[in-house]
Amino acid sequence: MRKQIAAANWKMNLTFQQAEKLLDDVLGAKIQFKGYQQAIFAVPFPYLLLTRSELEEEKNYYVAAQNCYHKKNGAFTGEVSAEMLHSIGVGHCVVGHSERREYFGETNSMLADKLDLCLENFITPIFCCGEPLAIRDTGAQNEFVETQLRESIFHLSPDSFQRIIIAYEPIWAIGTGKTATTGQAQEMHAHIRSCLSKKYGAAADEVSILYGGSVKAGNARELFSCPDVDGGLVGGASLIAADFIKIIAGLK
Ligand code: PEP
Repeated sequence: MRKQIAAANWKMNLTFQQAEKLLDDVLGAKIQFKGYQQAIFAVPFPYLLLTRSELEEEKNYYVAAQNCYHKKNGAFTGEVSAEMLHSIGVGHCVVGHSERREYFGETNSMLADKLDLCLENFITPIFCCGEPLAIRDTGAQNEFVETQLRESIFHLSPDSFQRIIIAYEPIWAIGTGKTATTGQAQEMHAHIRSCLSKKYGAAADEVSILYGGSVKAGNARELFSCPDVDGGLVGGASLIAADFIKIIAGLK
């Protein structure tokens, strides 16, 4: 069974105190995980150490950064490197979220560099891809996502490829309350897997592909039931403990 993952993306939300309470509330639910299920918290940089220490004793929970810089180190004021993340025990990092692509000009080629740096530093990247509405409206979403994969992922060796997680996030569904239908999600996830399998063969069957875009407590189980959907990357609903708990419970 591929890893089934509920990943929370807090974005730039919550005070330290609110973050602490949210973690306590989710952990307090004592969710019974199956061996192949995981929950990941992608938290703002200042909360990484808190989150890591809260999760220390937990088997199925992991902490993630929401970003890292695409250069190894140096004079890049305000940026955080993959090496720094590794040095404080962070094992996952979101790479290429559409908000980073849109507001911070991140390109496919920069994201290729971020993937390399994460992998060199033993960090599992959660690589985001997905098309804007204008592309979906023309029906060119498959080619659009394939280009994102080709330009950011396909340089990876087979060994490195097996260490990544992918999140398909149609931009028109992020934070909009508009969710992809299960048909749209399954179709794109199957397309992604088929692109990956043309390049990497059977290893593509082992890679978790998460869906992101207005996943809620009420629709998670149905979305996750699609054969190629291996869980979700969740923004808004991950800020409410009761909702995120239900989303984790919706994993297959
Ligand atoms: C996200 O932040 O990746 C996301 C999918 O947000 P939301 O769940 O709020 O649409």
